[in-house]
Formats: sequence, structure tokens, C-alpha cells
Amino acid sequence: MNLFDRELRYLKGVGEKRAGLFAKLGVFTVGDILRYFPRAYEDRREIAHITDLTPGMSVCVRGTVVTDVRQARISGGRQIVRFRISDESGQAEVMFFNQGWVKDRIRRGGEYIFYGEFREMKNSRMLSLVNPVYEAFSVDKTGTNTQRIMPVYRLTSGIGQNYIRGIVETALRLCEGNLEDVLSESIRERYVLQNAELCYKNIHFPGNGDLLADARRRFVFEELLVLSLGLRRMRGRRNAVGYAIPEMDMSGFEQVLSFKLTGAQQRAIRDVAADMSSGYTMNRLIQGDVGSGKTMVAAAAAWLACGAGVQAAVMAPTEILASQHYETLAPIFERLNMRTALLVGSMSTASKRKTVELAATGELDVLIGTHALISEGVEFKKLGLVVTDEQHRFGVAQRAALAEKGNNAHMLVMSATPIPRTLALMLYGDLDISRIDELPPGRRPVQTFAVSESYRPRVEKFIRKLVGEGRQVFIVCPLVEEVDGLDDGRKTVETYAEHLSREVFPELRVEFIHGRMKPAKKDEIMRKMSAGEIDILVSTTVIEVGIDVPNAALIIIENSERFGLAQLHQLRGRVGRGSHESYCILFENGGSQVTRERIRVMCETNDGFKIAEEDLRLRGPGDFFGSRQHGIPALRIADIAADNETMSQVSEAAGLVLADDPELTRPENALLRREVDKMFENAGELN
Ligand code: ADP
Ligand code: MG
Repeated sequence: MNLFDRELRYLKGVGEKRAGLFAKLGVFTVGDILRYFPRAYEDRREIAHITDLTPGMSVCVRGTVVTDVRQARISGGRQIVRFRISDESGQAEVMFFNQGWVKDRIRRGGEYIFYGEFREMKNSRMLSLVNPVYEAFSVDKTGTNTQRIMPVYRLTSGIGQNYIRGIVETALRLCEGNLEDVLSESIRERYVLQNAELCYKNIHFPGNGDLLADARRRFVFEELLVLSLGLRRMRGRRNAVGYAIPEMDMSGFEQVLSFKLTGAQQRAIRDVAADMSSGYTMNRLIQGDVGSGKTMVAAAAAWLACGAGVQAAVMAPTEILASQHYETLAPIFERLNMRTALLVGSMSTASKRKTVELAATGELDVLIGTHALISEGVEFKKLGLVVTDEQHRFGVAQRAALAEKGNNAHMLVMSATPIPRTLALMLYGDLDISRIDELPPGRRPVQTFAVSESYRPRVEKFIRKLVGEGRQVFIVCPLVEEVDGLDDGRKTVETYAEHLSREVFPELRVEFIHGRMKPAKKDEIMRKMSAGEIDILVSTTVIEVGIDVPNAALIIIENSERFGLAQLHQLRGRVGRGSHESYCILFENGGSQVTRERIRVMCETNDGFKIAEEDLRLRGPGDFFGSRQHGIPALRIADIAADNETMSQVSEAAGLVLADDPELTRPENALLRREVDKMFENAGELN
């Protein structure tokens, strides 16, 4: 068996209990610990002179112990060991709390290297080192814990820094001479990458800065290559033969609409029609801001598919959104003589069964639903088009699962998360992209204001005025705490809504909604909101995705400093969908420089693409992708935007590998393939 796959317990120093703790860090095998890359490094190479130190500096000093090593008891039953050290420049104090054994290990007159943070302590005129790392100094040998670059790992309780370092060293020693390399020699040569063994050593215990940089570059390359191969394999059906769906005169479709399609919508529809008629499968991403009318592009595609005698499936990330699509699309499709049904988890078993049957026998043209659509038992007679809405909510694997229900079905992905163009090209290298960069006519930009708490009375007055005019209002609260990553906005939203309805707006209809409610309850609330039976809806970010209430003219975002820019933009998109002047009020309670920048951007522009660029700039690419908002697997080390240069080499490398071995079945690609499978095995989770 490959050493990489050995359970962690195989390593000396890891028992059952520790293995359990490591599991919490996602580390199960020897390979996992080697890939548990440091989150940072401490540079302990420099040896400073004591006189050059300032408080707060973490650095090594080389000092001789010039006093007795004294031990004493201090308050709280604690023990202290203290002594003084000196180098040729000056003296410093060293103290150890509750480490009585130090007394027997350090002797007066001995010379040691100490590493730690120098601080100013009360009652002492000189700088002090508290609980430092220390090693006896020797002229002919560098230390193991000092005079080198040390890794710093992400920890969990019960697993300390030094313990992890030790285990990583054990793992490295175990694998020495036996490390298989995921990257073939030819790739390493071509892109000047060091071998796996050297890199594993240096990513954990860097010999020097250059070796660390080389190691990092290699692992970034490896990770991006695996990512890129995986994405291409899942999406790269570009040349697969698909149903040829003939182009039709779109006026047949347009005549049933109550509005004229925008130029951008028409262009996107033309792209789609051209793709689907080409004889190859379509893989197209429609990017457009909230409210830009992406749904109509999907509708047009479904109409074309139906005209060619194949079925279409439309998958949305939430029941609310699926139902809303159904309500918008069913009447349009009815006028086009298309048979449409909805399939969501909360439907009764009987009606689900009926719907599934209709899809299987081909009595349905369009099936709209949540991921219930990809559940087992759902079959289509002839699925020719798969539309997924709000794609960042779905993992690539889920999209692929739906596509598999059809035989090379055409794929249309709709995203309201505008991604900067450069990144879109990397992420969706194998998707064609249509941008809808024009809003339906008559839309006015949402007027956005940032206000502080002192404006609350005015804002309340404003709410009354708008509601008096018949409008509706959203109030969004951030999640106060995350329980196991689940949306638990219950308390805040509920208590806040209660407070508003009792004390502030007793005359208005106030309701609340959050992600932990039963789907039926959520749907009920949203239905009432759509029907105008609610004046103020207090909510968590469940309303973030695609809800359409054209009569809502104001959205208030509490603690807006807690939201990311992209999310603020998505939230703001809930208003301004009708013909009324609309407003977004951002309550701001402090926050950093970056936070204020974010809010400034919001006040200045309504353009989602511009906001995405700014978001990327402000947050840094790590966060942008770290949020797993894009349905791609989490990355350990690479940073798609920052590692730009490597990324373009990787694209080339991926192309070369696949040109030679499209399914990665050759022995020399076996390890790569395994890594691809591993990376994508969890990619399908909803996030
Ligand atoms: P999104 O791109 O956010 O999914 P939708 O497709 O939900 O946007 O469209 C937003 C609103 O705009 C809907 O109420 C829809 O009926 C309306 N709409 C779409 N296209 C047009 C158009 N060309 N003219 C006027 N209204 C439109
Ligand atoms: Mg939409």
C-alpha cells in the first residue's frame, strides 16, 4: 500500500485519541499530514543583539546565563523560574511560568539560543522573554527549534504546535526515499518544478527562502493542475455530440411575453440558439446582474428544446426560487403549449410520484425544481437541456449529475454573481460566456445610503412613509452565530421582528423568515410577501437568492459591516425590480477601513461587474475563493487570482496532459487521476 494512504495512527506518536483530534482538522492519513501545509512561518534565523531589541519583536538571541537560575512560587500557586542572560551588547531577563523542569536544564554560565517575543514587564528595567523556546548553542550545529524557519500550523484544541511539527517530521522521515510524485518528470522538467520529496521537506521545514518559494510554487502548480483537470473533465464535453436543436424564428416566443426583450437578452438567446443547433453540446454560462432578466434566456432555450422534441430541466438552489421560477414560467409556457411541472422536496409523495412519472413518459416538456431533480428515481424520456440557476450554489458534481440524466444534454448555467472577466476565464475555461450587461428598461438604480445608528428615527419615519404609499420593506440582519456552519438566524430575526411589531410599528404587518424554518413555512411567508400581505419582512440572508417582489422598494441592512460586498450587492438586488423608486439603507456600526471602502463602493455604483472587481481588490483573492461560493473545491495552497502566472502555465499543462490522455487512464497519469477524484469527491456538497 502507498505510504500516503496509511492511516495516521501508523505514525509513532499518534494514538487513537490524537487521531480523533487530527480528524477534526481533516487529517486522516500520512499523506494528509504531509499536505497539511503550514499557515505561516516563523523566521528564527536571525540572531539579534539584545540592545537592538524593541518590545514586541520575536527573534533569536544568543546569550550566556549570568545569574543563578532561581525558582519561586508566586500568586495563584504558580511557579516561576527566572534568570538573566547577556550577550556582548546587553542583558535581558528570561522567565518561565509553570515549567519547573527548566531549572534543571539551564545552568549558570551556559550559552543558549533563545527564541520568543521580547516584552516590557512591570518591575523590570530590561526587556523580558517569557516562556521562550531555547536550545544549547553549539558552534558546529544549528538548532532544531531555533536558527531556522519554523512552520506554524492551524491547530485544534489538544494538538499543539510542537506536537504537529514532530508528527510532520516523523511522517517526512517515514516517507523518505519512498515519495511518489503526482507530477511526471516531463511536466516537472518542462515547468521547472522540484520533485515531491524535496518540496514536502521544504514546505514544512524550509532550508531557506528560495527553497520555500520553490516548494510553494510546485504545490500550487500541482493543486491547480488537479483542479484544472477535474474541471475540464466535468465540463469539458465541448465536443460531445448533442441533440441538434434547430434555430427558430424567436418571434414565436417573444409574442407571448408582456415586454420586449432587451438587446442583451436577445444576444444571449442568439448565443444559446447557435450553440444548441451546432450538433455539439452547449456549455454556456449566462452572467448577468440581479434583475437583468436571465430567466427569459432560460425560457427561450427551453422553448427551442421543446420545439425539437426534447425535454428541459431547470434546477434552482432553493424551493422558494424553484417555485418562483415555476410561477413565472408556467403561464408563459402554457401560452406556448408546453407542459410544465414543479418538483421540490416538500411536495407530497403522491404528487412527486405523479410528476416523476410524467417526466419519464415524456408527457412533460419542462421540469422545474430543486436538487430533488437529481435524486434517484427521476428519469426523463428525452432530456435535452439542463438549466441551473444561481450556479454558485451548486457544486460542479451536482450539475454534472443532472446532465447525466440526459444523454449529452445541453447545459446552460446562470449566475448572478458577476465574476471579474479574468477570473471567469480561468474558472470557466471550458464554458462559453454570455454577459447580460443591460437592465430591462425603466429600471432606476437603487439609491443607496450608509447611515449610523443616530439616523434610526429618520429611517423609521421613512419606512412609515413608504408603506403608507403601498410599498413593502425588507430588513436584513446578519447571522449572530453560526452553529456548525448552519444558518441559525432564528433568534435575532425572530426577536427583532417581535420588537419591531410590538414597539415600533404596531400598526404594520411585520413578519420574519430565516433559513431554519420549515420549507412550507418559508414558502408561505414568501407567498404572503409576494401577494403584498406583509409590510415589513425581517430576514436573514435567505432572501439573498433571487426572490422577486417588485413592490418592495426599500431594503435595510443591519450591521452591514458584517457582509461581504458581493453579498450586499445580491441583497440590494431584492429591490428595484419594479417601477418604483427604490432605496437601500446600510446601517453601519463601526468597522475597519476595508469595511468603509466596501460601503462606499455600494453607495457609488449599482453595476455588479464593477462591484465584483472591487470586491476582489478589497478582499483579496484568497477570501474571494475561500468562501466556496463558486462551487469549486476548497484549495489548500493555491490562490487562483494571485497565482496568476502559474495558472496560465497550468492551463497549458492541463491541455497537454489531456490531449495525450483525455480520460487520464495511462499509468503515468494514475496518481494525477487519483488526486482529481479525491479533490472532486466532495465538490458536490451544497454550501
Ligand atoms: P434575474 O436575471 O435576476 O434572474 P429575472 O429573470 O428574474 O432576473 O428578471 C427580473 C424581472 O424583470 C422579472 O420580473 C422579469 O419578468 C422582468 N423582465 C425580464 N426581462 C424583461 C424585459 N426585457 N423587459 C421588462 N421586464 C423584464
Ligand atoms: Mg434569477
